[in-house]
Amino acid sequence: MNRFDFIRPKTVAEAVAAAAEPGSAFLAAGTNLVDLMKIGASRPERLIDLNGLEGLDQIEWRADGGVRIGAMVRNADLAYDARFAKAFPAVAEALLSGASAQLRNAATVGGNLMQRTRCAYFQDPASACNRRNPGAGCDAKDGLNRMHAVIGWSESCIATHPSDFCVPLVAFDAVVEVEGLQGRREIPLDALHRLPGDTPHLETALAPGEMIVALRLPAEAAGFATHARYLKLRERTSYAFAVVSAAAALQVKDGVISAARLSLGAVAAKPWRAREAEAALVGQPPTAEAFARAADLALADARPSGDNAHKIELARRILVRALSLAAEGTPDTMPALPASPFSSHPGASHVA
Ligand SMILES: Cc1cc2nc3c(=O)[nH]c(=O)nc-3n(C[C@H](O)[C@H](O)[C@H](O)COP(=O)(O)OP(=O)(O)OC[C@H]3O[C@@H](n4cnc5c(N)ncnc54)[C@H](O)[C@@H]3O)c2cc1C
Ligand code: SF4
Repeated sequence: MNRFDFIRPKTVAEAVAAAAEPGSAFLAAGTNLVDLMKIGASRPERLIDLNGLEGLDQIEWRADGGVRIGAMVRNADLAYDARFAKAFPAVAEALLSGASAQLRNAATVGGNLMQRTRCAYFQDPASACNRRNPGAGCDAKDGLNRMHAVIGWSESCIATHPSDFCVPLVAFDAVVEVEGLQGRREIPLDALHRLPGDTPHLETALAPGEMIVALRLPAEAAGFATHARYLKLRERTSYAFAVVSAAAALQVKDGVISAARLSLGAVAAKPWRAREAEAALVGQPPTAEAFARAADLALADARPSGDNAHKIELARRILVRALSLAAEGTPDTMPALPASPFSSHPGASHVA
């Protein structure tokens, strides 16, 4: 680990001013950043510790039913907030499917959104990586790439974004509030993460030194609470990143879908909203055929970036399954993700 300065600001304004210096990085819980520093994949010259800042750990409800979540709210605190889990069950389900209990207790909302790719070559300073070192090349392209992107990738970078949390957030039109030296602004979550193109090192829409102060979910998202699910396919039943994942949410009136939300995780460098598929579902009865058509549409532009064609079929199947589960209705006990086969409980109990 290289030497770095450690700054403990007292206000957001102080944090943003400190971060304006080149080579700065915000430190939230450090569950991603400190790991990357230890292995030399990230080498900030100064860390701006966000843990002492007041007002960033609140969950605030709006009169209309929307919610504003401070950037330092811990992943577990949000998932187990009874009102939040009832209004946004697929988001709680996604949070609880990520990492481990210990990590979720520490990891923050802002840190989860801003976590870096899990591409093994990105994490290995000895490997060529355009994301870490622009112009260096991409060792993943001809390397071990069975977990890499199948949508939106480029010859420069085929990495995926690993967050579970972001997947339902993008489906529900979440917005992030960010603050920088120029003041405060909002960015739709869908525009926060960038596709790689020729500049994979530019990972998000944040300007240098800008920090996320809060995340908002609009009231409309709660309108899907009775038919909303997050489903994650992984190589172990817990403590593993997604191979593919999906968030699906429906509103059904008189046997016909009146509104649909659909997104995929671990397929691209950003959480992937399937808007055409959503539009195709509206006006259809919630049948297996309609769900299969939607999944085909969602993956129409998917193509392997390496040894990962299987992810396209897995993504298609998980979309159909997530839509079918959403149509059945949100279970009373969340999440209903498969628990360990050794557990006496069929799913971790989460009673909102
Ligand atoms: C073993 C392991 C397994 C995991 N499994 C999963 C999983 O299955 N699913 C999943 O979704 N996640 C998983 N994670 C990721 C985990 O959720 C992230 O490490 C965590 O969310 C990062 O949060 P943090 O608060 O520790 O962020 P930090 O590590 O402190 O920061 C992460 C990044 O975000 C930046 N940052 C932090 N806060 C802000 C802010 N407010 N504004 C701007 N930038 C900011 C930092 O500068 C840094 O670049 C796993 C992590 C580990 C270590
Ligand atoms: S896929 Fe992206 S992150 Fe991975 S080595 Fe290539 S450039 Fe780096």
